Amino acid sequence: MLKLTSIYTSYGHVKALKGINIEVNKGEIVCLIGNNGAGKTTTLLTISGIIKPDSGDIIFEGESLKNLAPHNIVNKGICHVPEGRRIFPRLTVLENLEMGAYQKFKVQSSKFKEKLDAVFSLFPILKERAKQMGGTLSGGEQQMLAIGRALMADPKLLLLDEPSLGLAPIMVSKIFKTIREINEEGVTILLVEQNAKAALRLSHRGYVLENGIIKLHGNGEDLLYNEDVKNAYLGE
Ligand code: ATP
Repeated sequence: MLKLTSIYTSYGHVKALKGINIEVNKGEIVCLIGNNGAGKTTTLLTISGIIKPDSGDIIFEGESLKNLAPHNIVNKGICHVPEGRRIFPRLTVLENLEMGAYQKFKVQSSKFKEKLDAVFSLFPILKERAKQMGGTLSGGEQQMLAIGRALMADPKLLLLDEPSLGLAPIMVSKIFKTIREINEEGVTILLVEQNAKAALRLSHRGYVLENGIIKLHGNGEDLLYNEDVKNAYLGE
């Protein structure tokens, strides 16, 4: 479904990605783990077109994304839930969800209503809080809203950047459970996580990034029991 080939991305003189190759197959949950500054966020930003790579190619469903603007990449079916949620704090929950859909569907169209119902059934709390300002939600609810907003654009591939960051343990389990449900509904997922153990348990496959290079990759189970991964990322 998605293939990154030899991607180099930099910020001025800082070389963040140094020739990475990543594949995501339709239906999978794939995670990207690694220390701070390894290049995980940069990988997602490069896929969604927010940063353009210096070289290499990104193929999605047989088509290169390299020269497409971010909104056209959304139209192809890739939605990004950014690190730190980035919801609109002064818009209501419903307005935040409308913003997610606006690139794809008219508000009040039947497709919009169908998506809204699906998001509300996944996150009933968002329905209860529909008229409340986004900024008044708890951290976990804001994460649900950020995911819900991305789902409103009906993605084929969802990019999730650190969805569990800063959340209480009970909320972390809820978010991970929901990621599995979204995947079971047919959405392919590329997940960036500091919480490597939970991410590898959830994922079909994983990649370990170190200093802008893919150090290891394999299925989730194998990486969980890999001695190097255990020592470096799982605190064992
Ligand atoms: P974290 O978990 O801390 O977000 P990460 O693995 O997502 O880490 P990136 O944010 O992708 O890492 O950063 C990769 C490298 O690029 C780091 O060396 C970082 O300092 C650098 N970098 C990231 N954003 C910028 C920027 N806007 N300007 C300059 N350098 C940057």
